[in-house]
Amino acid sequence: MTLQNEIKKRKTFAIISHPDAGKTTLTEKLLLFGGAIRSAGTVKGKKSGKFATSDWMKVEQERGISVTSSVMQFDFDGYKINILDTPGHEDFSEDTYRTLMAVDSAVMVIDAAKGIEPQTLKLFKVCRMRGIPIFTFINKLDRMGKEPFELLEEIEETLEIETYPMTWPIGMGQSFFGIINRKNKQINPFREEEMLQLNDDYELEAEHAITEDEAYQTALEEFMLVEEAGDDFDKEKISNGDLTPVFFGSALSTFGIEEFLDTYVDFAPMPTARKTASGTEVTPTDEGFSGFIFKIQANMDPKHRDRLAFMRIVSGKFTRGMDAVLARTGKKTKVSRATMFMADDTETVDEAYAGDIIGLYDTGNYQIGDTLHGAGGKKVEFENLPQFTPELFMKVSAKNVMKQKHFYKGIEQLVQEGAIQYYKTLHTNQPILGAVGQLQFEVFEHRMKNEYNTDVVMEPIGKKIARWIENEEDIKESMNSPRSNLVLDRYDNQVFLFENEFATRWFSDKFPEIKLYSLL
Ligand code: GDP
Repeated sequence: MTLQNEIKKRKTFAIISHPDAGKTTLTEKLLLFGGAIRSAGTVKGKKSGKFATSDWMKVEQERGISVTSSVMQFDFDGYKINILDTPGHEDFSEDTYRTLMAVDSAVMVIDAAKGIEPQTLKLFKVCRMRGIPIFTFINKLDRMGKEPFELLEEIEETLEIETYPMTWPIGMGQSFFGIINRKNKQINPFREEEMLQLNDDYELEAEHAITEDEAYQTALEEFMLVEEAGDDFDKEKISNGDLTPVFFGSALSTFGIEEFLDTYVDFAPMPTARKTASGTEVTPTDEGFSGFIFKIQANMDPKHRDRLAFMRIVSGKFTRGMDAVLARTGKKTKVSRATMFMADDTETVDEAYAGDIIGLYDTGNYQIGDTLHGAGGKKVEFENLPQFTPELFMKVSAKNVMKQKHFYKGIEQLVQEGAIQYYKTLHTNQPILGAVGQLQFEVFEHRMKNEYNTDVVMEPIGKKIARWIENEEDIKESMNSPRSNLVLDRYDNQVFLFENEFATRWFSDKFPEIKLYSLL
């Protein structure tokens, strides 16, 4: 098969949601459909109870397969679909955001009873910034939830995106009858086998007791309203991420999944191009192999330094044992150990194509954001991955003052690698760490001890609103206060750490001449 045909078959998406909305369950059902697994319950060593965050290393080991479950490939309708998990809960970190840089579309799972929740919103914003298509699966229709119109309105208002329901629910909870499929004018009944066909006037072709049902009549009226007054179906808006196709279903009951997949493969993009540092674009069908690393899974086994670097292939074809160049250093390496992830095991990769995600065994050579390209081919270096605005901060120092050198070397490496962000106080140069999730601090502490032989003392500063400054030259010392604390980032840019929203607003009112901005 030609390179072009292989690439055309690929669809790579991230699944985003707030914890407990049903992300794992939906992933599992998608894999079942794709024939990648034979029975449910194999995707994740699902958390049994709560772990203290400091147990993260143990947790990783106990789960064991958490690496394999973070990227998976399955086949559907002739397509090769790569699904990337975006870890939440205590696993939430910058990696979660960076995963969204490696995909071409996103699937947002919403719990029908809860609507849009905070983590969904955060991840959604990053998808929106990238302008990638977003598909919405409203889950748990087998339970009582919010009314469908209320949910659509919430999506439209909170997320500022148009909606286009591809299916429409008839009732919910106990009285959930099924979904109307807008594409083929069929009703897929929740508790019956046979599909029910509707005619052009949306009447059931064959007689059925449900027509007498009030829930059915209401649903039909609502559906007609959506048909007449709802947003128009617009392919281009979907591709730009301005309109989201919406599906209703129940992941747990494997219901509404096929309707979703059918539309997904029709409208999700094939692998898309990526920008280089010099502003040019690398398209997937470019002959030469290239890719970038967006996540590094630290040593799973504390006895070894081995890590797994996750790479998104941007162009061409990867072949096992190929010679590749690490753009940052210009060094040539033979890439012989790479894996790809199936639901319940990992496989050695012999070949992979643009759009695919592969795991490279790493003994410490790779950093987040690194580019690899085929030796002998064109030199490629992708633009930096974005930095995200941290929300949590910790003062940090070495427990043993004799270990300063190790301490700073460790910090430098971990910061470069993208594990954590580094700041310092203005005059005293007290190191401060910034993160988007608590897990990043735990990982930092653990790796400092194990890899840099340094015990650290961490003192939480808590949640802060970090704002960078456009016109640094106008900053005056007097603007620095405990509620608007001025610090330096790793590039020596000045950053305000505001106590809360109120302090941020107060500052902007008092010093309107200072132009503040946030990273993503
Ligand atoms: P995640 O945290 O988003 O990965 O959510 P899970 O997939 O682990 O689901 C959270 C809980 O919701 C589990 O107890 C699931 O069994 C349950 N769940 C998932 N999908 C459905 C559904 O369609 N209906 C109902 N009633 N429960 C569901």
